[in-house]
Amino acid sequence: MKTVHLIKANEDVTVPKIFCLGRNYAKHAAELDSEVPEQPMIFMKPSSAIVHNGEKVAIPAITKDFHHETEIYFVIGEEGKNIKREEARSFITAMGIGLDLTLRDVQNELKDAGKPWLISKGFDGSAPISSAVPIDGVDFNSLELNLTVNGKPRQHGSYKNTIFKIEEVVEFISRLFTLERGDLIFTGTPEGVAQLQPGDRLHAELVGYASLDVEIV
Ligand code: ZN
Repeated sequence: MKTVHLIKANEDVTVPKIFCLGRNYAKHAAELDSEVPEQPMIFMKPSSAIVHNGEKVAIPAITKDFHHETEIYFVIGEEGKNIKREEARSFITAMGIGLDLTLRDVQNELKDAGKPWLISKGFDGSAPISSAVPIDGVDFNSLELNLTVNGKPRQHGSYKNTIFKIEEVVEFISRLFTLERGDLIFTGTPEGVAQLQPGDRLHAELVGYASLDVEIV
């Protein structure tokens, strides 16, 4: 099973599951012509989708529109069910920067047909993640993310612009799913998603805390 590296504990923790949020920044929902959801819109990637800093990701043959989405992610530190948002923070241990790589053309076909997104979002290599740093004392609303591709700015976002905050998302998910130690929650992408080509070098940052380098092949 794939793992996430917790820097403070110097520990590789198994990732049981990965939750992702769709349309959690209004400007990104608008760029995809999607409506802003009234409650958190969640989907999952299998743990096998993870790749780590410095690894390469191969574009699957079935797509002609391979997109980056840069996202802050949080790591669950202890098991919980029916967690209230007021206590949600105590179930989170760490945070990092990740990429929700997406087969946009495949996703749009599936969406239009009313079918699940899984193959457009859950393939091998679709979840590159940085190492995770502790959340101790961090004001989440101060978090900023950046992505450059071949050194050129592509995405910038501020956590404070997310529609659903992580505490509310933990409450929402844990009503139906037991959250387990090592689970990841990706918090959605800001605007600026765009196509990637073989040879592109991505550098994503959770500004001041973590970074991630990935090469597309
Ligand atoms: Zn995403």
